[in-house]
Amino acid sequence: MGKLDFLTEEIEELKKVGLYNTIRVIGSAQDAWTEVDGKKVLNMCSNNYLGFANHPELKKKAMEAIEIYGVGPAAVRSIAGTMHLHNILEEKLARFKKTEAALSFQGGFIANLAVIPAIIPSPEDVVFSDELNHASIIDGIRLTKAKRVIYRHLDMNHLEEQLKTHHGRRKLIVSDGVFSMDGDIAPLPELVELAEKYDALLMIDDAHGEGVLGSHGRGISDHFGLHGKVHIEVGTLSKAFGVVGGFVAGSKALVEFLKQKARPFLFSSATTPADVAAVIAAVDILENDDSLVKKLWDNARYFKEKMRDLGFDTGQSQTPITPVMLGEAPLAQEFSRRLFEEGIFAQAIGYPTVPRGKARIRVMLSAAHSREDLDFALEKFEKVGKELGVI
Ligand SMILES: *Cc1c(COP(=O)(O)O)cnc(C)c1O
Repeated sequence: MGKLDFLTEEIEELKKVGLYNTIRVIGSAQDAWTEVDGKKVLNMCSNNYLGFANHPELKKKAMEAIEIYGVGPAAVRSIAGTMHLHNILEEKLARFKKTEAALSFQGGFIANLAVIPAIIPSPEDVVFSDELNHASIIDGIRLTKAKRVIYRHLDMNHLEEQLKTHHGRRKLIVSDGVFSMDGDIAPLPELVELAEKYDALLMIDDAHGEGVLGSHGRGISDHFGLHGKVHIEVGTLSKAFGVVGGFVAGSKALVEFLKQKARPFLFSSATTPADVAAVIAAVDILENDDSLVKKLWDNARYFKEKMRDLGFDTGQSQTPITPVMLGEAPLAQEFSRRLFEEGIFAQAIGYPTVPRGKARIRVMLSAAHSREDLDFALEKFEKVGKELGVI
């Protein structure tokens, strides 16, 4: 018996219950058409909402930055100095989000781990968290000693009951802006009202809202006209922005505080010059031109409408995230496998990522898709849907 045999046993168990995840291999840039496991397929499952992952302007700016700044930051910013480029990015992100300041991190996941324990570290504090919040919010909460209170998904009455019941030194309400599996949007006006009424801080993780919601893709606060009402806005640079990284946007005091206290800022190196330059280019494009955001929404509306006409159940999504509801996991897996044979990459998602009986194919639309691409996808969904008795 080897010391690590328990790992192999657990892996076998995952395979037995159908939860083992085989990772497909990408052999090209992430784009509308992507090489997956050696085959060029229509990509309908990336978070490349605006097509920035392979955008010529972003690539050009990344290459120029490598020439000037090299490939790595070589140290933690607070110890060996920050590159000028990161400061420029943060100024641009703050302007884009219409906040006083912003601070970049190595990922959206890291941003949540950074901010939550820094803001509410003590057992005297309380955090109120939507039951379907992203794993990185859950893990951020695990890093604090604050009392945790979970409220039912989007249920503002339940949240209010909890706010009446649980008191503390500092209170933080935290929610995803857009929930990634169903594409539903947090009721920000009600969250703002409850935060004000019960004197709580409000934190929104807008990972699937940035580049998607609001004018020019400024995100959920812009979508609801509530700039300045969310105390802590977390974002990712890895989805619509097409690169990698994350950030926190808010007041000057918040950012100054995080630079002193947020552990991933103090103890981990920053993103590379190429990443930062590429994101700056993405922000510049979005500030000047909203045509990619409009195209994303046109594509989403077109695809959802045609899918409904075909008889598919596309759930309650209010965003370009389009779940195609199939029920049981084996059907969703078979559907995904058949789509792949037909030239479409669209992943099946089942329990435990979504509840039992709610397995689905999650289609992610992108501004990179052309109308012909979508028509191709619709034809294949119809073919496989009929073949498997779904429509
Ligand atoms: C994807 C996602 C993250 C993680 O962002 P990365 O930049 O990939 O680390 C965090 N929060 C939410 C809500 C997300 O959807």
